[in-house]
Amino acid sequence: MNIAITAHDRKKELMVQFCIAYCGILSRHNLCATGTTGRLVSEATGLKIFQYLSGPQGGDQQIASRIACDEIDLLLFFRDPLGKGDTDSDEAFLHRLCDVHNIPVATNIATAEALIHALERGDLDWREIISQRR
Ligand code: PGA
Repeated sequence: MNIAITAHDRKKELMVQFCIAYCGILSRHNLCATGTTGRLVSEATGLKIFQYLSGPQGGDQQIASRIACDEIDLLLFFRDPLGKGDTDSDEAFLHRLCDVHNIPVATNIATAEALIHALERGDLDWREIISQRR
């Protein structure tokens, strides 16, 4: 499975902790991330993560383009609901594309935990079946 990871600044440490906790599961998948989130997670966990540009430089759009091409199976995007909101349009665009392409997406750690367990159980394997048909 191809998993994309990103987090707003005030949620980056939480994302790092999440990835440390689920490193074993995540290591069995192809990971990509926006630049800063990817670097922090990779340094803390040793996970191999393809790093796009940082979010403000276009990393969110690079992930969006992979979602548009149906090349992402799961998006973990820890958003900061109390943040200033200057990236709201990028975020809305990403979430809209996830809905267009039926990509499971977690915007907080509670949903991310539910999805990572679903991933481990094989509940998301339908994504691979669909991609093999394309
Ligand atoms: P970053 O991007 O991981 O490069 O900081 C995430 C974001 O757009 O906030």
